[in-house]
Amino acid sequence: MGLLNNKVERSAIKPGDHIYTYRAVFTYSHHGIFVGGNKVVHFRPERNLNSSAGTSSDSDFYDSTLSLPSSCCTFPDCGFRKPNSCVVLSCLDCFLGNGSLHRYKYGVSPSVFLAKARGGTCSIAKSDPPEAVIRRALYLLQNGFGNYDVFENNCEDFALYCETGLQIVDRKKKTDNGKTGGSSRKEVKQGVGSSGQASAVIGAPLAAILSSPLKWLIPSPVGVATVTAGMYCLNRYANDIGVRDDVIKVTVEDLAGK
Ligand SMILES: [Zn+2]
Repeated sequence: MGLLNNKVERSAIKPGDHIYTYRAVFTYSHHGIFVGGNKVVHFRPERNLNSSAGTSSDSDFYDSTLSLPSSCCTFPDCGFRKPNSCVVLSCLDCFLGNGSLHRYKYGVSPSVFLAKARGGTCSIAKSDPPEAVIRRALYLLQNGFGNYDVFENNCEDFALYCETGLQIVDRKKKTDNGKTGGSSRKEVKQGVGSSGQASAVIGAPLAAILSSPLKWLIPSPVGVATVTAGMYCLNRYANDIGVRDDVIKVTVEDLAGK
């Protein structure tokens, strides 16, 4: 297994592992928690959740590429979800579709983290024991994980939370006083979610990076490509839940019991 490849065989994954697969020809990955018994708990947009409140292009995008088979012939409970919940139980085959299986890495060193070519494949944060991870995933399957948001609350955030119990403080505050409804969620500061995918897409202002203590990590800017790659990596580093100072451990009961 190479440094840049987390691909694993099915026989190699264990209950409690954070797994992911690439969809739509490598444009993004879909994440979930393997809970054993050939089952995966994952977080995906609820197809009809927001249909009456205008359309979201994010959801449309995910719906068109992420749709699971409506009937699974292997497991009768495949596709189980609570009403209005975005947390789904699927069998491994339906979760993967035609994609290959990868395992997310935890507790990697900063140098390995920065060497990864793609966001959303590893974290500096350490994962909790498998029993705790599975317990969180199954609890959230019963109690929900809030609304799906491609940037602030996506499948990778869900899996990251199950593995580490870490939540970004700002997001929690936002949820607590989110009386103004959905639009207020867009005002969350640029820190957005903890997932590598979202931070890779959004990027951070160059000035913010240059003024950060991480600036010494930027290679000499010999070209635009170098600078861009450096910014990309640094932004991922600054957003990783393993190094952020605005993350706290939240019990699954506190998270779901709102
Ligand atoms: Zn299935």
